[in-house]
Amino acid sequence: MAELTLDHVTKRFADGGDIVAVDDVSADIDDGEFIVLVGPSGCGKSTTLRMIAGLETVTEGTITLDGQAINDRQPADRDIAMVFQSYALYPHMTVRENMSFGLEESTDMPDDEIGDRVESSAEMMGIGRLLDRKPGELSGGQQQRVALGRAIVRDPAVFLMDEPLSNLDAKLRSQMRTELQRIQEDLGVTTVYVTHDQTEAMTMGDRIAILDDGRLQQVATPLEAYHEPANQFVAGFIGEPSMNFFETTVENGQLVGDGFEYPLSEETQDSIGDSDRVTLGVRPEDIELVDTAESDHDFRTVVDVVEPVGSGNNIYLAFEDNAEEASELDMDESRTFVATIGGLRRVEAGQPAIARLPEDAIHLFDAETGEALR
Ligand code: ATP
Repeated sequence: MAELTLDHVTKRFADGGDIVAVDDVSADIDDGEFIVLVGPSGCGKSTTLRMIAGLETVTEGTITLDGQAINDRQPADRDIAMVFQSYALYPHMTVRENMSFGLEESTDMPDDEIGDRVESSAEMMGIGRLLDRKPGELSGGQQQRVALGRAIVRDPAVFLMDEPLSNLDAKLRSQMRTELQRIQEDLGVTTVYVTHDQTEAMTMGDRIAILDDGRLQQVATPLEAYHEPANQFVAGFIGEPSMNFFETTVENGQLVGDGFEYPLSEETQDSIGDSDRVTLGVRPEDIELVDTAESDHDFRTVVDVVEPVGSGNNIYLAFEDNAEEASELDMDESRTFVATIGGLRRVEAGQPAIARLPEDAIHLFDAETGEALR
């Protein structure tokens, strides 16, 4: 069993001003869970991980492992193994020595048992043939496997991983993602995985914890974070291309924005309550291009730019009323929004198009606080 809990954890760095790197973060990580800590650069991911590992002190709050506070425990006594982006292998040691070193130093495990563990972890990571090589004789991907193998060999209660795949090329990275997930599932070891890459977070995590500016924004399954973002930050961070946002005011049951009016059903109006300034959010993949305008959620637009992507196109559109300005402003982002359209539909810049923004797909946020209203 390894349940990891962060209870109102804060980290302040006093040097160079009072930096609050991690601000009152609370989270319960279940036994065997794979949780991904994700957020933009500087949001406090690494600092959070380093506090769990014991490489940084905790300024306020408590970190517990299976109910025991570990704030004051030495890193070596935490039963936690960390894998770094840089691999951190000892260059003068063979792979075998790199993998066995930690156990030899910190336990009195007999040599033959250590040897067995190294062999089976190496087998699991597919590096059995490389045990007598030194890191300098390995590719980046192989070194990364050694770093992971070295964590596995310790059979820890918790794995901590700080962007372990970011030095690998795209193909190897996606292969290793799948492999890592399989191994984590087989071993059932509680894992906290840090990345700034939302795609990695969405594909790997049982749950994801989204951080911004030291504060935890939401802890949810990837699908919950996608469909029910807690606030505008999460909504914009999850998804590619990002969700479109429109500033609006609420007037007589409609959202009035720059160049459009969006009528709301009674039910949606109820969810808005008293807010009079609301941000309307629509994911690019939820926007449809239709042949004829049939509802008051269908809008006349002009195609500004067509960006081919893999199986379809990202189509940048401007509401008809804004079209002239949008092109004059040379694709000013505030005047255009993007729709992702699959398949072979031919659309060209300058053409008119009717964009449908279905009401059941829209998101609404309080313009002041960013909190999701529905
Ligand atoms: P990245 O994705 O760029 O690695 P991160 O989300 O992991 O970023 P952290 O490295 O945890 O972010 O940093 C969080 C904040 O704390 C940043 O503002 C950073 O500058 C600051 N910080 C981190 N370490 C220290 C330190 N030792 N002293 C002072 N400030 C620090």
